[in-house]
This record gives sequence, structure tokens and C-alpha cells, in this order.
Amino acid sequence: MTPKYNRVVLKLSGEALNGKNQVFYRQALDFLADEIRSVYQSVQLAIVIGGGNIVRGRYLMENFQTTPVTADHIGMAATILNALQLEDFLQREGMDTRILSALEINAVAEPYTFKRALRHLEKGRIIILAGGTGSAGVTTDTAAVLRAGDLGAQIVFKGTKVDGVYSQDPIKNPEAVFIPRLSYSRFLRMNLTGILDETAVAQAKAKGVPIRVFNIFEAGNLARALGGEEIGSLIS
Ligand code: UDP
Repeated sequence: MTPKYNRVVLKLSGEALNGKNQVFYRQALDFLADEIRSVYQSVQLAIVIGGGNIVRGRYLMENFQTTPVTADHIGMAATILNALQLEDFLQREGMDTRILSALEINAVAEPYTFKRALRHLEKGRIIILAGGTGSAGVTTDTAAVLRAGDLGAQIVFKGTKVDGVYSQDPIKNPEAVFIPRLSYSRFLRMNLTGILDETAVAQAKAKGVPIRVFNIFEAGNLARALGGEEIGSLIS
């Protein structure tokens, strides 16, 4: 596989790591480590990890009336737990990795700075970006797009459990139509926020960062996307 891209941001939701009633699911972590190893050293890879398998800010606000900024800090802290667990699986597969966190937690992760992130990428290390943007009020989708812009990544891969973008939620609605390509504006008009949050797509539009949404749990898909194959859906 000749990669089409040399620097990519891969956004993984926290739910990529979980199983039924389990925060972490061993098979999922092993699978992701294998997929990532298959592209290791053929691309500079920054992984932005979510926290939704543990807790999202919105859930705490709705169910516990947690102060919004605190709820979001709890959500950001959740991404750090995921980063540590993911890193452990990548390292045992022989990959050189570094966690950079936007929320400082120096015992386990370096503070995120743009220059440090670039240096690790140039040395061939996979960087795992934890803590989202470090600011409340957004999600890790937005962090992925902003980091892609900062780091000059050519594309954001949003690796999910679904095949791409549908006109409606395909699980709830059998009439949902698959959309292989769409513009940022069409995505925003269609209100497809279950797939990616609006701020992320608006930022992607502003920065001209394309986003490919695909099923990361189909073996070989990460390498296919990297090779430029038209899998999943492209928002550009
Ligand atoms: N979060 C935040 N700022 C950020 C990124 C995340 O406040 O820049 C919080 C927010 O509460 C979010 C939670 O962290 O719900 C976990 O991130 P996200 O929902 O993106 O996780 P995912 O859905 O990707 O698993």
C-alpha cells in the first residue's frame, strides 16, 4: 500500500474501546492495535481519543445537573484514561508512542504543545492526543479537526462502528440512505450531529480539512483509507 497521505489525524471515539457493559473490551483494543500497527511507519499518525465509553459532559449536566465546565472537565479527564489504556495496547505491539494531553497531568502524559507534537511525529512516534482541546463546551471531534489544522495533517479519519454517513440513523431507520460524499455545508444542513459534532464540521470547513468517516472495525479499512480508497463517506 502506498499511502496517499503522510500525516493524518485519526479520531477514535471512546466507544471504539468498549464492549457491552464494559468500559474496555479486550478484543476491540487488540483489534485496533493490529490495525494501527499495519500503518505504523507508513504515515505520521496522531490519534485523538474520545471519552464517551466512560462519561460525556452532557450526560452529567442532564442527569446530575453538574456545572457545565466541571462536567466537561470530567469528560476530558475520561479521555486521559482511554489514552493510557490505548497506549498500553499499542506499546505491547511494539509501537513507539507518546501521550500529549491538553489537560495537564504530568505524571502520565506530556503537556500538549504544537511543537512537541510535531517533533514526535517527525521521529516516527504515534501521538495520542488526550484531553480534547482542553476547553469546555466542545468535543473531541472538534479537537481532532483543530489539531489536524495545527499539525498540517491532510485529513481527519473518523473511525466509527458504522459504515459512514447516512441520511438518518441507520439503526433506528431502515430507510436511511448511505451518502458516500458530501460537502461540509450539506452535512451541516442535514443536521447529522450523531456522527460528528457541528462545531467540528464548521471548523473543518473553515480550515479546509476533509473528514473521512468509515468503519474502523472492518479489518484493513484503516490501511485502505490511508491508501486513498473511497471507503466510507468523505466530507469535504
Ligand atoms: N470535552 C470537552 N472539550 C474538549 C473535548 C472533550 O469539554 O475539547 C468533554 C466533553 O464533555 C465530551 C467529553 O469530554 O463529551 C468526552 O469527549 P467526546 O464526547 O468527544 O468523546 P467521544 O464521543 O469521542 O467518545
